[in-house]
Amino acid sequence: MKAAFLTGHGGNEVVAVGERPRPQRRPGEILLRMKAATVNRVDLYMRNSGAGITRRLPQIMGVDGAGIVEEADSSALVGRSVTLYPGIVCGRCEFCKRGEPVLCAKMSLLGEHRDGTMAEFVCVPTENGLAIPNNLNFAQAAALGVNYLTAWRMLLTKAKLQHGETVLVFGIGGGVSLAALQIAKAVGARVFVTSRSAEKLGRAKDLGADAIVDAPPDSIAPEIMRLTEGRGVDVMIENIGGPIWTAALKCLVRGGRIVTCGATIGDQPPADLRRVFIRQLQIFGSTLGSPDEFAALLEWCAEGRIVPLIFARYPLHQIRAALLHLESGEQFGKIAIDI
Ligand SMILES: [Zn+2]
Repeated sequence: MKAAFLTGHGGNEVVAVGERPRPQRRPGEILLRMKAATVNRVDLYMRNSGAGITRRLPQIMGVDGAGIVEEADSSALVGRSVTLYPGIVCGRCEFCKRGEPVLCAKMSLLGEHRDGTMAEFVCVPTENGLAIPNNLNFAQAAALGVNYLTAWRMLLTKAKLQHGETVLVFGIGGGVSLAALQIAKAVGARVFVTSRSAEKLGRAKDLGADAIVDAPPDSIAPEIMRLTEGRGVDVMIENIGGPIWTAALKCLVRGGRIVTCGATIGDQPPADLRRVFIRQLQIFGSTLGSPDEFAALLEWCAEGRIVPLIFARYPLHQIRAALLHLESGEQFGKIAIDI
């Protein structure tokens, strides 16, 4: 079967498109004929180093994806369109047993620890395939599995965002931040976004952002205080890390919540701990989401409350171009791979 896979690490040259053996379905699994996947920051990480992740090369790329069930234990599932929950969990550890599979100590992710979704066929446990609402195409459905699910857990499960609260999303345009804007608006929150790109801020405004902030890090807090009449925001969604933390902590109201899911520019930020305890701030770390959260997200999509944003589409054989596009940071929405 055709697949996009990694042959090593370091640069786009290690990304190949060619033949890989078709996976054999085992009992308890579904075999999918894949239709779409999207590229994620983690694909760039896997391509560039993959350090700290146990894997065997060559490895098929792709963490999220959607397709049609070709083989299953139950014939009723055959022909069904499904999107993939990217984590395969053990079901036996302390965390799985207490109903928190997203914390599974042995979770293995598609495209990271095992062959991924950018292939004509993929085998996963049956429960990893969730039915796609009729109003989504395959690319949109694929887009949900990483970025939208991550933003969902950050806003709804961790920060417990409420209607009418204010949210600040740092660095609008990236997959998670854009998903956070859409989900927060669907909740009925007031959403502020930051970017240094006037074009991205304009697009964010079209998507419903209530205020846009184009400012260097040390000017963000004064601007947020002006927008909130000196109060600060209730919730902050942050996946950049590094020096923006100093500004970020100054943007929060007393008791405010900051949720972080990435550290693209630095993982050792200066954080004023006096501010954290005196103002009783809450700091949450988050990554991915649970299958239950994924099902709830799909329901919101079925109701039309969230429409996943696809910015560009590439055929599988142009995976290198898709990765370069992602790396450029110029996109506003997901970059999809048609398979
Ligand atoms: Zn487990």
